[in-house]
Amino acid sequence: MGTLRWGLVGASDIAATRMIPAMRRLGHQIAAVCSADAEHAAAYAGQQQISFSTSEIDALLSRDDVDAVYVSTFNRLHYAHTLSAAAAGKHVLCEKPVALNLTDAWSMVRACDTAGVVFGVNHHLPCAATHREIARLVAAGAVGRPLGVRVFHAVRLPQRLATWRLTDPGAGAGVPLDITVHDAAVVNRLLARPIDAVAIGVRQGPWDAAVDDAIMTVIRYDGDVMVQTHDAFTVGYAGTGLEVHGSEGSIIARDVMTQEPTGSVLLRDATGERELEIPDRRDLYDVSLEEFSRAVHEKIAPAVTGADGVRALAVALAVQEAAGSGHRVPVDEG
Ligand code: NDP
Repeated sequence: MGTLRWGLVGASDIAATRMIPAMRRLGHQIAAVCSADAEHAAAYAGQQQISFSTSEIDALLSRDDVDAVYVSTFNRLHYAHTLSAAAAGKHVLCEKPVALNLTDAWSMVRACDTAGVVFGVNHHLPCAATHREIARLVAAGAVGRPLGVRVFHAVRLPQRLATWRLTDPGAGAGVPLDITVHDAAVVNRLLARPIDAVAIGVRQGPWDAAVDDAIMTVIRYDGDVMVQTHDAFTVGYAGTGLEVHGSEGSIIARDVMTQEPTGSVLLRDATGERELEIPDRRDLYDVSLEEFSRAVHEKIAPAVTGADGVRALAVALAVQEAAGSGHRVPVDEG
């Protein structure tokens, strides 16, 4: 399998906890890291054994030993950083949400197309063996005609992440852009087009949040399929899950809306109930990276394309607007 030489844009928590370990497990090189604060960049580079650090993105992008850039800066910066990377001829794996609005997001897709570089979005859930099995079952008609999907994705935000996500709407804070966008990346693969959304959001956590930290939503997909989500930063003990209920059966998956390769998938229909075997439970971030690398070397699509990321964003933005306005909001994919 081909590997890549990476430049990290963002000395982030997600890079330290998930992506750098995945890159090293797969034998990729990490050539450079860039962060807003030069001292932070240097300290991070020291901790992560990366030989070059900078606070100037151009210093990273001009390096010949960088094939691809992993963008994990604040959400509002994904657009500018992706455009700069594409202009420098670097392949881009960008964190979710791909951008803060659809105009920017589609511009990112076009810029990468024009530059001839691969553009992937690091939604980890579509890389999970459980979600791939659920998508396969739904496409194969195992539940008949889908009627409703329930997503349980209310979790407790770890203290170390209780920063800009709660306090800085300008940076791209809030539950829809942090959690609902992941739900959409999964559900968009199961159902036809999202149509519209209603949502109620509240602030219920033990912090002074500037945005809603818990949201319940109903999204209608084409064919009048109803999707219900509970997304929150405030719930510590619920566990996560996904259910797909159809005319001929139900899929009930538990502990699958997580960063770990865990969870169970059960199929219930007229013949009874059985737990499905999920082979190949690999680390979700390893799969994302491996498929991104294959996209670069073999000219195929990454696990989650830029366009997939934009369509997930479209749902999250509709939910955000619905919670803010109290109205039913159309999902406009731009
Ligand atoms: P962090 O706050 O840990 O990291 C953000 C980084 O962006 C910081 O290192 C900050 O630099 C850097 N930064 C800010 N401005 C600039 C700039 N102008 N140039 C270069 N770097 C800059 O964030 P998280 O790890 O929590 O999240 C990062 C991204 O990853 C978000 O988009 C988030 O949505 C996504 N994410 C994805 C997950 C997944 O599973 N796919 C899970 C968690 C997060 P400095 O510290 O020097 O100021």
